[in-house]
Amino acid sequence: MLTRLSSDTHEDVYRVEDPASGLRGFIALHSTARGPAAGGLRMRVYDSDEAALRDVLNLSEGMSYKNAAADLPLGGGKAVIMGDPAKDKSPQLLRAMGRAVEQLDGRYWTAEDMGMTPEDMAIMAGVTRFVAGRDDGAHASGDPSPVTAQGVLGAMKVGAARVFGTRDLSGKTVAVQGLGHVGWHLCRLLHDAGARLIVADMDPARTAATARDFNTAVGDPRTIHAADADIFAPCAIGGILNAETIPQIRAKMVAGAANNQLATDADADLLHARGILYLPDYVANGGGIINVSAEILHIEDPAPWVEDKLKAIETTVERILARAEGENASPAHLADRIVENRMLATKAG
Ligand code: NAD
Repeated sequence: MLTRLSSDTHEDVYRVEDPASGLRGFIALHSTARGPAAGGLRMRVYDSDEAALRDVLNLSEGMSYKNAAADLPLGGGKAVIMGDPAKDKSPQLLRAMGRAVEQLDGRYWTAEDMGMTPEDMAIMAGVTRFVAGRDDGAHASGDPSPVTAQGVLGAMKVGAARVFGTRDLSGKTVAVQGLGHVGWHLCRLLHDAGARLIVADMDPARTAATARDFNTAVGDPRTIHAADADIFAPCAIGGILNAETIPQIRAKMVAGAANNQLATDADADLLHARGILYLPDYVANGGGIINVSAEILHIEDPAPWVEDKLKAIETTVERILARAEGENASPAHLADRIVENRMLATKAG
């Protein structure tokens, strides 16, 4: 049921199938040069096999960058299941995916991503040793989202010091797009930091609940990127920074948790040309994988270890921003260069 596909760009790519449970998906190992390939399992409806394959290839490559940016001894991998998590997910299907992960014998570690929960990870843990993000068991690290939000907040403060001359976010207005696992926690932290919030989610009930929780203004999910705010925090979908949205952004900085925020590389230059500071997403949102990796690496006293790694995200962001300013270039390009050098150094070492 694991079929190896050929790839010019990735170390290993597999099609995963289990007709008995209806499982159809892919596992991609972009690189194991820095350590086991680690990255979550996503379940969603795809238009085609090609679309699912494209997603897993992009996401697993992104994980190589994210893990290297967080300086973790992990490579990049990802898995996807094609299907609607609300309708097609079953313990049988999850166990079939777990068996596929187990077959890779630790070269790939999975955890939850979109469409997955810690309960799903617990089911998979019944058949594979290589699953993290569990709620219970030895070294269990639980939901990574609050830690992702904490990392984004830290990165945002580093950016704020450059853009506004202070790390203090009190009185700053932040427009938050997407109020799910990470977005809600980010709102909580920003609220505690004294920031003013404008919040929007496609789900009106979620918007209303978050607005109530933190006494915030409510934005329109279609135009939240253009809100009158100091900072725009994308915490929902990818591709939100594009040729249409960028000219409409009024914030001076973009810093959020969403993966693959830039629709194209050129959009980084568009933001830069408009004088909007963009914090590279895979650097700012590394808190979740840091938390998960404490479980993968069996760290005995995870809290201070995670705290140190979160501080290191801030140092990396500061380094990226300093170099970007020196070169008058987008931080996105500098981040890629710094992380690619880190990956090359690992290979050479
Ligand atoms: P989630 O599914 O819990 O929440 C996403 C929220 O965004 C949902 O409430 C959804 O209704 C809303 N949404 C979807 N499209 C929207 C739109 N166009 N406008 C406004 N709201 C919209 O997901 P999450 O775990 O909070 O992750 C959010 C983003 O952060 C994703 O891109 C994810 O890949 C990324 N990320 C998450 C983590 C983590 O620890 N969970 C770590 C790193 C990166």
